[in-house]
Amino acid sequence: MNFKKLADDYGTPLYVYNFDYMKDRFDELKEAFRGRKSMICYAVKANSNISVIKHFAKMGSGCDCVSIGEVNRALRAGVSSYKIIFSGVGKRDDEIKEALEKDILLINLESEAELKRVEMIAKELNLTARISVRVNPNIDPMTHPYISTGLHESKFGVDIDSAKRMYIVAKNSNNLDPVGIHFHIGSQLTELNPIKEASEIVSDLVRSLKVLDINIKFFDIGGGIGVKYDNEERIKPYDYAQAILKTLSGLDMTIICEPGRFLTANSGYFLTKVLYEKVNVDKRFVIVDGAMNDLLRPALYNAYHKVEILNDSKESSIANLVGPVCESGDFFAKDIELPKTSHNDLVVVYSAGAYGFTMSSNYNTRGRACEVSVENEKVRVIRRRESFEDMIALETDLGD
Ligand SMILES: *Cc1c(COP(=O)(O)O)cnc(C)c1O
Repeated sequence: MNFKKLADDYGTPLYVYNFDYMKDRFDELKEAFRGRKSMICYAVKANSNISVIKHFAKMGSGCDCVSIGEVNRALRAGVSSYKIIFSGVGKRDDEIKEALEKDILLINLESEAELKRVEMIAKELNLTARISVRVNPNIDPMTHPYISTGLHESKFGVDIDSAKRMYIVAKNSNNLDPVGIHFHIGSQLTELNPIKEASEIVSDLVRSLKVLDINIKFFDIGGGIGVKYDNEERIKPYDYAQAILKTLSGLDMTIICEPGRFLTANSGYFLTKVLYEKVNVDKRFVIVDGAMNDLLRPALYNAYHKVEILNDSKESSIANLVGPVCESGDFFAKDIELPKTSHNDLVVVYSAGAYGFTMSSNYNTRGRACEVSVENEKVRVIRRRESFEDMIALETDLGD
């Protein structure tokens, strides 16, 4: 990847996505489930650029969406409605209505209260809603607490007993069709055991539902496969698939998998340029033109991203790599060895393809970065840089 040329051609801050890498990861995961009925539903929230969704759609991917906005992105990108899943703990009435009207594959229920609302809205529309229930198997996924979702203390899903009650209510309803079951215990998972245990618990529930003549067709194992940011162990897709399949013996279901980060994180690079260096007493700072409004993960999770400064400097010392935003949390890396820099030296922030641009904002009235894709060595702008006029376009008192 010729980062210097990309930065020269498109400016900084810039997101660059390697579409060939995304395809390799998709194929790798698809291959892992070969011979089984399976469907990959790309988790749109990781990187929701329409070109990215289109890229996966062309490979046959469905989409896991967490708002009606994401459902509409998937549809706009050409994903068939029967491959779209709508998850999330707080769906509004209008979102449920629109999802039902658009006849998506599954609405994923996360509470008994939500089940009642979906039933009511389906009844008003004279429809039958295909639903799944998100089960919270109470498993510690051993990941960062902010992205851990499978413990009872988390807001996601329902416990096994509530899930069972919900399936019985759904079975007896004219407007609900309980065809799926879902769990997602967290993100950036690097250990197989928690996934295996969760899958066992949920597949046991499927067996006990079968006894009640409730036949689950879709076993949705969520996303969460971790990636290498630093030197983490990586779960191999094949081992992942085997671990899940082992828990499903005797059950004939379509496995749905909802990877986000796994497909996109390491396809992405965030390019930014050095503005200044400064030393406060004995603390060295390298200040760049990208900031937390572009890439929030370090500020939000204290997440590690590998950074590299592209210059030939032989001298180096410990420094913080920071952005211009007026927050002490605005950093990319802290206390790392960095070479001596000059104005306009290019900095590459690695593993920026997931939860990067999608979490960006206009904080400090900074326009969002440009996004480009690289596929077969061909570069394409997939979102132009945001201008000042773009940023104020929705505000009212623009005249004098
Ligand atoms: C966030 C999320 C995913 C994707 O998680 P990754 O860690 O990016 O794979 C999948 N399913 C659900 C329900 C989610 O909330």
